[in-house]
Amino acid sequence: MEFTAFNLHSQVAAGVRDAGYTSPTPIQAQAIPPVMAGRDVMGLAQTGTGKTAAFVLPILHRLMTGERGRVRALIIAPTRELAEQIHQSVRTLGHKTRLRGVTVYGGVGVNPQVQKLRAGAEIVVACPGRLLDHINQGTIDLSHLELLVLDEADQMFDMGFLPDIRRILKHLPAGRQTLLFSATMPPDIRTLAHDILRDPVTVQVGNVAPAVTVTHALYPVEQHLKTPLLLELLHHTDTESVLIFTRTKHRAKRLGEQLEKAGYRAVSLQGNLSQNRRQAALDGFRDGTFQILVATDIAARGIDVSQVSHVINYDIPDTAEAYIHRIGRTGRAARSGDAFTMVTRDDAAMVRIIERTLNATLERRTMDGFDYKVPAPKKDVEFARPPRQPMPGRKPAGKGAGKGESPAASRTAKDAARQRHQPGQGARPAGAPSGHRGRHSRRTGN
Ligand code: AMP
Repeated sequence: MEFTAFNLHSQVAAGVRDAGYTSPTPIQAQAIPPVMAGRDVMGLAQTGTGKTAAFVLPILHRLMTGERGRVRALIIAPTRELAEQIHQSVRTLGHKTRLRGVTVYGGVGVNPQVQKLRAGAEIVVACPGRLLDHINQGTIDLSHLELLVLDEADQMFDMGFLPDIRRILKHLPAGRQTLLFSATMPPDIRTLAHDILRDPVTVQVGNVAPAVTVTHALYPVEQHLKTPLLLELLHHTDTESVLIFTRTKHRAKRLGEQLEKAGYRAVSLQGNLSQNRRQAALDGFRDGTFQILVATDIAARGIDVSQVSHVINYDIPDTAEAYIHRIGRTGRAARSGDAFTMVTRDDAAMVRIIERTLNATLERRTMDGFDYKVPAPKKDVEFARPPRQPMPGRKPAGKGAGKGESPAASRTAKDAARQRHQPGQGARPAGAPSGHRGRHSRRTGN
């Protein structure tokens, strides 16, 4: 299939050509026609499938006719990084259209956003908390909205944003077209979809499986030998750019420093960084200044790093969905990639869950010449496995997204405070216990 089959407006088609896209990805092939036909769409697709262009292209096409200078399309995303990434797609694909986009998220000054909104923009990409602030302050006019996209809806739910989303929805014209994208369909998102989508077309790719171009391998190792093994792995692997995941921001920071000391161009992404430093770290990773980025799940959420050659799970994620999200960062859009996961004995149950979800047995590898028998030094408490956090959702949402380990990627202090004041709303599925280690096995039973 060719992009020409969609009959996109010529200026939008020019953007597609300039972006170097030749043929649509499966989610684009499925979603673009119904979106262009004005239908509501529920898209089940994870990051890395090309889902952003699947909604950006029809939006650009639609906005080519009609009035300019009013907000006509609103895209809501859970994190700043994802919002920026979507905004970049709008810019790249729409660079010939003269349509204007604005990003709206917390953690940065509000005035530049107000000025840009005042100057007139047709497309707003926003995170929920700051968007709600603008709505409450009357600094955004959404009365002419034609199209709403909720991107990574399951993540917004995990981060406790669902109440905000529902508040925002009250301010939007009822006659709009709505698209909802989510990698998974937890019950609350299904309910939301049922409430807000009218006669939706459902499109689905991947069925929660990572890109086929990714090679997975497990590296069984004792906890205290993870860093030496990682160094060995990096030494022996031809890596272009490596995204390493740790369980906590503290571990991300420490590991980043250790890799730097070992001579690698490494940087860590963690919540205590200012927005400028976060952006610098991300930009540096994207342009190759840094070869290695160490991050937690929440910090890395939505990062578009199309050239990641390796994803290394220094710590195994807490759910199969998180594994798939992490792995989605490599092997994107038909590139191939490798995903290595270090596993300790404690991780056996999680490995089984991941393998069951992927319906595959992951290859166990050992590193030739590596001494797996080195005993743990007595006071090696630094990198000892921390106690698991309460993980009733797919992520440490209640704790992580609010104030704990997470960098609360796109959220302002206000967002976090808002969530703290709404315990139980969104972050944790109703009835789920907190701090329950046996939860994984129950979840996969669903
Ligand atoms: P996404 O899932 O939207 O985050 O997209 C993943 C990556 O695929 C991004 O780097 C896009 O620029 C790229 N991409 C999206 N659509 C296409 C396409 N049709 N052909 C090639 N690359 C694409």
